[in-house]
Amino acid sequence: MIYLKIYKIRQFFLTPQYNLPKKDGDHVSLQPIIKLTPVIRFDTTAALRQHLAPLRSGQSIGLVPTMGALHEGHRSLIEAARRAGDLVVASVFVNPAQFNNPDDLARYPRSLDDDYQMLEAAGCDVVLAPSVTEVYPEPPTLRLNFGELETAMEGAFRPGHFNGVGIVVAKLLNIVQPHRAYFGQKDLQQVAVVRKLISDFSFPVELVRCSTVREADGLAMSSRNRNLTPEERALAPALHEALILAQDLLAEGQSTAQAKAAVTGFFSSNPNFRLEYVEIANADTLQPVGEVLAPGQTAICLAVYLGKVRLIDNVVF
Ligand code: AMP
Repeated sequence: MIYLKIYKIRQFFLTPQYNLPKKDGDHVSLQPIIKLTPVIRFDTTAALRQHLAPLRSGQSIGLVPTMGALHEGHRSLIEAARRAGDLVVASVFVNPAQFNNPDDLARYPRSLDDDYQMLEAAGCDVVLAPSVTEVYPEPPTLRLNFGELETAMEGAFRPGHFNGVGIVVAKLLNIVQPHRAYFGQKDLQQVAVVRKLISDFSFPVELVRCSTVREADGLAMSSRNRNLTPEERALAPALHEALILAQDLLAEGQSTAQAKAAVTGFFSSNPNFRLEYVEIANADTLQPVGEVLAPGQTAICLAVYLGKVRLIDNVVF
């Protein structure tokens, strides 16, 4: 009983990777406590900077920017940073500047208390969860232009989105000054935009792209999945199925036009879906391609409305 109690407390406060319990039948034997890691929370950038200043020498810092409503996809980014040995700093900030639709911003799920718990359990060291006025003391007037990167897909259908992403990521990179920044392949075009931002501004940071984490039925994990009705959730694996269909058709030698037409037909047969785009593109430049590229270079990307919820997904092969 006492073991169980201590174990639970330990699970809450300790970094699992440092101190994994050894299971021996029903008995849980406790390992020596190596490191206490209650996640340290900040809501101001000044306090976060002050906290990080003495920790910089001798330790790399990994930044995981998020908009909260955390799930296993976010956890995988935290874990990647931990595996790299970084002091892990996550941010939780629903960035109004990247929403081109006010309803979408209002509906965006928020669960800060749960997020803190999940970050702590994942072994995150520090969280920045600032207010909008903390991040934007005045409305930004800066305009970023990502050129070709924002003429297609998310850039075309969400005007101003990547300007907002670029501004907030630049702010976070300046505030945290991490050695590495972790982003998910789930938002592939965002990865390309951040890569360009880092290059254009010479931010001294390494960008790490992490694989998409999926539910058992193939649905890419997303905070927006929480807004799906049970009926819509049951239909949602169709996005991944459509991507696999297109990938299979390309592997059989069909053209990119045929593969895209097949995806369009796939969604048009079900009135619950509204396909916004499907594109076959270079996975780094996001420019449309007419044929399959070298392994790991081709991406199939799509955006679909399922009821009121807009979902995006991609496969890279
Ligand atoms: P978000 O909170 O949606 O802005 O996402 C924060 C970070 O988590 C971004 O870099 C996303 O690409 C990444 N992410 C979101 N969903 C997933 C997922 N299913 N697998 C891996 N990374 C993800």
